[in-house]
Amino acid sequence: MGSSKFILEFTPDLVKEPIVYRLSLDLGLLVNILRAEIDENGGRMIMVLEGDTKRIKEGIQFLERSNVQVREMTEYVRRDQARCTDCGVCVSICPVHAYELDRSDYHVEFHAEKCIACGLCLDACPAAAISIGAKEDRTGNCI
Ligand code: SF4
Ligand code: SF4
Repeated sequence: MGSSKFILEFTPDLVKEPIVYRLSLDLGLLVNILRAEIDENGGRMIMVLEGDTKRIKEGIQFLERSNVQVREMTEYVRRDQARCTDCGVCVSICPVHAYELDRSDYHVEFHAEKCIACGLCLDACPAAAISIGAKEDRTGNCI
């Protein structure tokens, strides 16, 4: 079993195709759509595919055969806990709620698996505690 995050780009002729349905039903993949901005002019979707590694590869091949542009997200946001002041700016700015304020002690939790790498928090963090790292760093927090 494995899971990977992908960005899919749809052209207008593809928006009515049951592509996600086929990934799920034909290939048995678990599909988690993190963000989708699609209308009659095409659009973009960020999704996590989870399942057998071979099946994920087949899923990518299916997408490519269907003329969906697909690329794996290989960069992830990392938070340097030593720099973080728990100010909470990132909590309000993140569109997918990857940061969460723990009210028991007012520290900010980072849920790296939710991140869609939009980049908004990088510039917003007053402590410069947030950076982009490679895929291996997907746990999200610097040591
Ligand atoms: S904006 Fe930066 S300093 Fe403030 S809570 Fe988020 S990571 Fe920490
Ligand atoms: S880059 Fe920052 S703001 Fe954007 S989704 Fe990831 S954690 Fe949230």
